[in-house]
Order: sequence, then C-alpha cells, then structure tokens
Amino acid sequence: MPIDPTLEYDDQNIFAKILRGEIPCRKVFEDEWALAFDDINPQAPVHVLVIPKGAYVSWDDFSAKASDAEVAGFVRAVGHVARELGLVEPGYRLLANIGIDAHQEVPHLHVHIFGGKPLGPMLM
Ligand code: 5GP
Repeated sequence: MPIDPTLEYDDQNIFAKILRGEIPCRKVFEDEWALAFDDINPQAPVHVLVIPKGAYVSWDDFSAKASDAEVAGFVRAVGHVARELGLVEPGYRLLANIGIDAHQEVPHLHVHIFGGKPLGPMLM
C-alpha cells in the first residue's frame, strides 16, 4: 500500500532498519550521506535504491528540511553510484515516488536508479 507522506517519520520503516543494519541488503555504495543497495524486486537489470542517511520521509520532506550539505552529499552519491555502475553511457533513469498518487511504498526517501537495458519512453 502507498504511504501517506504527511505522516511522522517512522523509525520502524524498512529502510530505517536497513540503515541501522537490522535488515540485510545487497550494498552497492555507502558514504557519510547515502546508502545504495539493490532493490529486492528489480524492475530492470540494474535497479538500485539510493537513500539518505537522515530520517526523511520523501523527496518533499528532504528538499524542504535537509541541510545544504545533506542535499549535496545525497545528489552526488546518486551520480557517483550511476557512474560506478557504468550507466552513464548508454544511459539510465532516476525515479522518486512521492506520496499516495505516486504509490510511494516506503516512507524513507529513496531514488530508484534503473538501467542495464533500453528503458523505453516514460509513459507517465
Ligand atoms: P516505492 O514504490 O516506495 O518508490 O518503492 C519501494 C521499493 O522498495 C520497491 O521497488 C521495493 O521492491 C523495494 N523494497 C521494499 N522492501 C525492500 C527491502 O526490504 N529490501 C530492498 N532491497 N528493497 C525493498
């Protein structure tokens, strides 16, 4: 079920647990600002999720409340992961679902990185 992003941050959510090491993940990258790991249900040959270390429910929450250093660190981490995965050529797709209409399921900001095949046009 999609979550209501106006809810308070829930530190029992699945990505908070992954950040705390309580649930395993297939880690792709980690630094001071971000953790990147394979999606458990990949929708493309490469499907990685990048999450900030801070407790932000969504892109909206993050872009409004995070410090400049957190924003810069997170954005640079997303780009770094895509480069390290060799996706820049021929390309890749970023996606962040925010809220109910976008069917956001996990209430911790995550940017999806899709790649590894021609992805076709964005339909929605
Ligand atoms: P959303 O719809 O919120 O943008 O995407 C949530 C994503 O998190 C989905 O692609 C789903 O497969 C992934 N996901 C949910 N639970 C887990 C988990 O426990 N581990 C990993 N690696 N991915 C998860």
